[in-house]
Amino acid sequence: QKAEWAKLKDEPTITADNEHVELVANIGTPDDTVGVMNNGGEGVGLYRTEFLYMGKSQLPTEDEQFESYKAVLEQMGDKPVVVRTLDIGGDKELDYLDLPHEMNPFLGFRAIRLCLERDDIFRTQLRALLRASVYGNLKIMFPMIATLSEFREAKALLLEEKQNLINEGVQVSEEFEVGIMVEIPATAVIAKQFAKEVDFFSIGTNDLIQYTMAADRMNERVSYLYQPYNPAILNLINNVIEAAHAEGKWAGMCGEMAGDEIAIPILLGLGLDEFSMSATSILPARTQIRSLSKQDWTSYKDEILAMSTAEEVVEFVKEKANIQ
Ligand code: PEP
Ligand code: MG
Repeated sequence: QKAEWAKLKDEPTITADNEHVELVANIGTPDDTVGVMNNGGEGVGLYRTEFLYMGKSQLPTEDEQFESYKAVLEQMGDKPVVVRTLDIGGDKELDYLDLPHEMNPFLGFRAIRLCLERDDIFRTQLRALLRASVYGNLKIMFPMIATLSEFREAKALLLEEKQNLINEGVQVSEEFEVGIMVEIPATAVIAKQFAKEVDFFSIGTNDLIQYTMAADRMNERVSYLYQPYNPAILNLINNVIEAAHAEGKWAGMCGEMAGDEIAIPILLGLGLDEFSMSATSILPARTQIRSLSKQDWTSYKDEILAMSTAEEVVEFVKEKANIQ
């Protein structure tokens, strides 16, 4: 099987009926790009930058960050690289920030919420990203966006720092896209409104599922509620993809679900443009996608979205996609 996969390393990701989708990777450090290339990744769909901030005693400097972002962009050449701005808080803590202990950290002061209040930290990261933007195909993505005001505020800071750099005589790319993660149900519900202002969506199902089902993604006792194939989740995902396409934008997914063999046929039918997963999942996913007809799975879409339970969805997909 491994040999079969390896043959597809440099092949495009096309369905049996010749439709292209993009298979990209989630990474945490610049070194991870080696695995992306070795597994035939078409780019990076999620660079989790928090690892730059973790496991040390102080914030990374602008130059330190610049070097990491530049390295990833250079290693990926002209392939797209989606860099997510700092998503700290929740399960990921930073001792040196001395944040107060919270009752519900996953519902608390994390990610963009923290960045908008501690804009000193945020601006440093944005400057590093902007400086790196001339070295490749950068796309900037904000995590945990719940309202349009948050997006507008984050983007305004980005444009402000861009202007500052230009005034300082630093070269900045003119072309980078600015998008958001859709991982909060409120954002998925009014994706239509967001789609008018963002350049792209990347659906973060790890969080979207826990927030939609009100089930902690780390809590074993409620893990039966953590249901990627629940029709509630699938309808939210569909809403996001439709909203993006109506505005001529693209929609990707960077949660675990994007590399899941049951989810892939469904997502293909919903029209997902980009699937971002761990590098080792890329070749198996490409193999599977090449066996699937996008037209068939598009024709199952309404039926799947109207199903009542996750079990029903799984049973249907297994039968139609020949999964044991
Ligand atoms: C997600 O929430 O799906 C996601 C990709 O982000 P993280 O797993 O880093 O929270
Ligand atoms: Mg998340």
